[in-house]
Amino acid sequence: MSRVVLLDRDGVLNVDRPASVTVLEDLVLEPGADRAVAALCRAGYRVLVITNQAVVGRGLLSEETLALMHQRLQAWIAVAGGRIDQFFVCTHAPSANCACRKPKPGLIEQARATWDFDPAVTWFVGDAERDVEAGRSAGCRPALVLTGKGREAHAHYPEVPVWDDLLAFATELTGTSMPTRTMP
Ligand SMILES: [Mg+2]
Ligand SMILES: [Zn+2]
Repeated sequence: MSRVVLLDRDGVLNVDRPASVTVLEDLVLEPGADRAVAALCRAGYRVLVITNQAVVGRGLLSEETLALMHQRLQAWIAVAGGRIDQFFVCTHAPSANCACRKPKPGLIEQARATWDFDPAVTWFVGDAERDVEAGRSAGCRPALVLTGKGREAHAHYPEVPVWDDLLAFATELTGTSMPTRTMP
């Protein structure tokens, strides 16, 4: 079994954009996100990204550019000494009614089939309500960060543990104070 942390992408790892990230120039790391992933890796976690990218299904972003974005994220994170082990992406438009688009748990189930982790002890860090819902549906522990859409999601789910950003989460998870946080 792997020790895994699941991360949403936009608003958690990189800065969210109102109209999604569709060009490379719009891909900007959230401050400290590279160090956060590095800290998780050093602590022995596999880091998996769980992201909806309906912009692909809508024809606004090519698979090639999406792959370049993920290469770029990996390169930035590598400088800090970390690594995303795998990106799980739903590229379907909402109208496709697929089984993987969050808030459905399909992407997390794909990740679990590949990495064999116990969802009951696995955090899914997101910034949106659909992240909380997907995490819960998959039996994971939802966590919120206040970057991206996080303030709005926190207002809807005040019982979900919340951190300022991914670095604050990773610092606590890899430190000694995590057991004080309890599951909702
Ligand atoms: Mg997000
Ligand atoms: Zn999908």
